[in-house]
Amino acid sequence: MYFCPDALNCLIKVGTSIKFWGVRGSIATPGPSTVRYGGNTSCIEVREGGEIIILDAGTGLRLLGQALLKEFPQGPLNLTLLLSHTHWDHIQGLPFFGPIYEKRCHLRILGCEGARKGLEEALTGQMETTYFPVPFAKLPSNIEIEEFTDYDFNLGPVRVQAHRANHPGVCVGYRLTTPNGRIVFFPDTEPRPEGPDAGLLEFIEGADVLILDSQYNRAEYVNHVGWGHGCVDASVDLALQAHVKHFFLFHHDPDHDDRTLDQFVRRARRLATGPKPGLKVDAAREGQTLLLGATAPARRPRKKSLAPV
Ligand SMILES: [Zn+2]
Ligand SMILES: [Zn+2]
Repeated sequence: MYFCPDALNCLIKVGTSIKFWGVRGSIATPGPSTVRYGGNTSCIEVREGGEIIILDAGTGLRLLGQALLKEFPQGPLNLTLLLSHTHWDHIQGLPFFGPIYEKRCHLRILGCEGARKGLEEALTGQMETTYFPVPFAKLPSNIEIEEFTDYDFNLGPVRVQAHRANHPGVCVGYRLTTPNGRIVFFPDTEPRPEGPDAGLLEFIEGADVLILDSQYNRAEYVNHVGWGHGCVDASVDLALQAHVKHFFLFHHDPDHDDRTLDQFVRRARRLATGPKPGLKVDAAREGQTLLLGATAPARRPRKKSLAPV
């Protein structure tokens, strides 16, 4: 259960919250040149009606774990992790996720079926003694790892749908439909040369928030065709075609510093200003929180005057 820390806000409607804990692709990039957008790899937290849903387990997951343990110091902690795929930058935070070292934590991990090694082997393998000191089997928490074959299921009030990405190996994007809006998350995918397929467009159509792989600019993309990552121009085009409201560039290249990402944002905003402007564009930034459908905090009611009017 999620309790609002502010008593007054508890009386008002709390919308769906989205928080970026890791926005980088490929490898974590700490340092002064990435401090504004952040250096941790893919991890996003979504909360809706008591559900805590984590998208990807990149290195940003470590910080999320610290925050969760601070917010919920005791009692059961139920979490769901949806994995896009098992490349390093999407799973390496898991062994450093504090809640898995607590008995009271129940973590359900879901990923799609079909990777060459099963999901369980891929996740537990990175905790074998060759790579990590604590074996997965020794963790005190209750962890369930499930491969889904049905690309459409519910987590509490949230409808979760998955769609295959154009990325080496088995990789999906997710669409979360909540009572407060629709979030689409495609951390790793490459635009198809013939343009987006109708199925992908339909999947993204009308998203309130689209978080999409936009690792390269056009010139860089030419040298990375087939690597499974997107470029800014194609991403904006897709967002416009799908009538997205707020688009976030994601999976920032490890060689792109804050200034380069500022340029990406400027370029994307220029491209988004078409005949029918309305697409808001930002680059995902570590620590940033969004609220969907939240009602503005109500003002404390004034004491009514007892004097006759
Ligand atoms: Zn990646
Ligand atoms: Zn990948």
